[in-house]
Amino acid sequence: DHYVVAIDGPSGSGKSSTSRGVAVRLGLRYLDTGAMYRAMTWWMLRHDVDVHDPNAVAARVEEPEILSGTDPLGPTILVDGIDVGLAIRSDEVNAAVSPVAAVPSVRSRLLEIQRDVIGEGGIVVEGRDIGSVVAPEAEVKVYLTADPAARARRRALEEGGADVEATRESLLARDAIDSGRATSPLVMAEGAVHVDGTAHTLDEVVGLVVQLVEA
Ligand code: C5P
Repeated sequence: DHYVVAIDGPSGSGKSSTSRGVAVRLGLRYLDTGAMYRAMTWWMLRHDVDVHDPNAVAARVEEPEILSGTDPLGPTILVDGIDVGLAIRSDEVNAAVSPVAAVPSVRSRLLEIQRDVIGEGGIVVEGRDIGSVVAPEAEVKVYLTADPAARARRRALEEGGADVEATRESLLARDAIDSGRATSPLVMAEGAVHVDGTAHTLDEVVGLVVQLVEA
């Protein structure tokens, strides 16, 4: 009943749909840690903080109140009581989130909130550093990838028909920063199972992860 499933991987690999599908099938809660980094970034932009100045970001990191709803059928994210579910998917946030997420005090603040949520019971958690840093004790760890063309197509579709080439460039730029940062870079965690979703449907990937949990 206190089962933790960690799903990490680069942008657009299908983590969100997969994680939500697995949580629904297994009756677990769901936490999107990327949404929390996006919410922090949205707040910084809204308060005119220079997101490319790590000291400026660090100075305000304790201020926003970030609250994640964990229903896999309708996850929510509130910042200071404002529903930012749509606003955190904007181009402005896409462009600023990786630099903000590279600030160590941003990570330690959100890590604390993430551990509190995880502590409340069984959950599927998606992000970049879940299996390595946030929940190294997770029963099942998945490292989900897909080739960049498939990821860009998926993300462009999710963003309501955005330009695929521009989406691809934005994804790859974030991957480069997320993989290269000093604090909790995107890596395949020890004990993680690598799943390449490129040639599989969502149902197939969900089924595969469910099998890993039930094994
Ligand atoms: O998953 P999503 O693409 O929404 O994540 C947005 C950004 O948040 C990532 O590009 C990364 O910079 C950051 N992130 C992170 N650690 C996590 C989840 C997301 O650094 N666990």
